Amino acid sequence: MLSLGIESTAHSFSVGIVDEKGRVLANVIDSYKAPEGWGIEPAKAAQHHREVADKVLEKALSDAKKMMKDIDIISFSQGPGLAPCLHAGFDIAKRIAKSNKKPLYGVNHCVAHIEIGRVSTKAKDPVTLYVSGGNTQILAFVDGRYRCFGESMDIGIGNALDKFGRALGIGFPAGPRIEKEAVGGKYIELPYVVKGMDLSFSGIVTDAIRKKEKGASLKDVSFSLQETLFSMLTEVTERAVAHTGKEEVLLTGGVAANKRLQEMLAIMCKERGAKFYVVPHDLAGDNGSMIAWTGVLMHKNKQKTKEELLPRQRTDEIDVSWL
Ligand code: AMP
Ligand code: MG
Repeated sequence: MLSLGIESTAHSFSVGIVDEKGRVLANVIDSYKAPEGWGIEPAKAAQHHREVADKVLEKALSDAKKMMKDIDIISFSQGPGLAPCLHAGFDIAKRIAKSNKKPLYGVNHCVAHIEIGRVSTKAKDPVTLYVSGGNTQILAFVDGRYRCFGESMDIGIGNALDKFGRALGIGFPAGPRIEKEAVGGKYIELPYVVKGMDLSFSGIVTDAIRKKEKGASLKDVSFSLQETLFSMLTEVTERAVAHTGKEEVLLTGGVAANKRLQEMLAIMCKERGAKFYVVPHDLAGDNGSMIAWTGVLMHKNKQKTKEELLPRQRTDEIDVSWL
């Protein structure tokens, strides 16, 4: 069985093709890049997605050495995401499903991040820390659904790093550059904002920018920003592990690439006797394969979805019938 998935919630337009075991046959990603100094503009990103859609689809089929007739099911990102971007993916998904008479599945983007993480790392029932540009969530399966134990109350962790990077003119995406810069830095105190199980980043970034403007070195501020933000993420993840009694932690999203974040979580997991997994880099950011694979799970479990977009859909609204 072959499943084709289309991802288009934010800057990336991607088509992935996977088989019934979750093996990835193709995973083509084409991302909209905002002009220097700008954040993502939904209408421009959506226009990008519409322009590259056919090319990305063709490349995915050619990478997989398959034709449209070999595909059994088609899935699209249903939400959460930017409405104009979601529409771009939905339109092409509907078009190819209809013209090729294939069943169509609407997939929750956050659930898809967890599912591609589970299948690629063989984690069974983890607490998932999903850290990307726009999202920061601590999720775990309880009572039939993935529940959100904690999340950012303002911007995503990746956006927080990028906001800092933009203010200091170090280029986009800033995460990797901050990671390099932080090596050997000294700690300068920054606010630490965990409220219950939720996190807030924007005030910390503002303070870090101010410290730099007052003369602290980029190295020290980068180091302190990472230490503070990642400690907050590790603290909340640890509490979710303690509360649920789960024995695995899964790290995913674009910020999962950060070695210092990985190290902090690995230490926490070791101390608790939990297993720690990191999603492979090419499947950590937004990608079509995660949508394709979640489509397989829904299809196998006869979990139907409506043909509609839900830009504000929440992770815990989705029945996880396959677990
Ligand atoms: P995504 O939204 O999943 O595509 O992830 C993109 C985000 O990941 C951007 O905000 C990047 O700054 C961030 N990112 C990428 N690599 C790293 C890294 N090594 N350390 C921290 N953040 C990173
Ligand atoms: Mg994402």
